[in-house]
Amino acid sequence: MGRIFKVSRSANNMLEEAARLLVKSRFAIAFTGAGISAESGVPTFRGFNGLWKKHRPEELATPEAFEKDPHLVWSFYKWRMDLIRKAKPNPAHYALAELEGIGILKAVVTQNVDDLHREAGSRNVVELHGNIFRVRCTSCSYKENLKESGRLEAFLAERDLPKCPRCGSLLRPDVVWFGEPLPRKALEEAFKLAETADLVLVIGTSGVVYPAAYVPQIVKEHGGKVIEVNTERSGITPIADVFIRGRAGEVMEGLMEKVRVMLNGGGGFSDRLFRGRGWGD
Ligand SMILES: [Zn+2]
Repeated sequence: MGRIFKVSRSANNMLEEAARLLVKSRFAIAFTGAGISAESGVPTFRGFNGLWKKHRPEELATPEAFEKDPHLVWSFYKWRMDLIRKAKPNPAHYALAELEGIGILKAVVTQNVDDLHREAGSRNVVELHGNIFRVRCTSCSYKENLKESGRLEAFLAERDLPKCPRCGSLLRPDVVWFGEPLPRKALEEAFKLAETADLVLVIGTSGVVYPAAYVPQIVKEHGGKVIEVNTERSGITPIADVFIRGRAGEVMEGLMEKVRVMLNGGGGFSDRLFRGRGWGD
């Protein structure tokens, strides 16, 4: 009993400290990975138990696999699109959207392709690994977000390989496959944000996949604070100023309660309220 009390008390102190740092920050960003979407039921690549139709998912998400068998790769991606479109943002996604609304958070840099940050209301989202609902042409510069164009349903039902409406070439998912470089523009934007940030809130990432994992390191090198929320220690933990162990949704809910209390006059941070949009509007 005493031990449980001690643990929850220290977790509470961590939340308190994280909330204080967030409210005090001038330019906070978030850096998120698969762990933030786990409570939304989005299956992670590493979390796949075994095989998809006798294939290892890692072997299907490559340019070589697509060249060899685009039907197979497209049926894998349509299956994932269908799973992910049924997923809903969880309290952690909503917390980040709320922090942006208040004016504390300036951007979310994500390694996820599931679009749940935007679904939750985040506006400034930098996607390092693309977006599962976006397709692009293998020949020309055509890109389409199927959710935004309203074509997702029809796209999933189509049996033939998807073709570019502009040039007729094969379309592919606009995601980063194994062995492919990250989109340069997104990466440059992420690094620039990291250089400017005085705080990064890292949620649900192993912190071992580079170059994405440089984001929190750059913030740290420039004198910024690092807050990490994760179910276990990660590659980021050694540089974290505050490490909060737990599921993203639960931790972020607790953190937002503290932030709201501080903004409502607890600790002299209430002027912060007038800098942003305010929440709940
Ligand atoms: Zn085209």
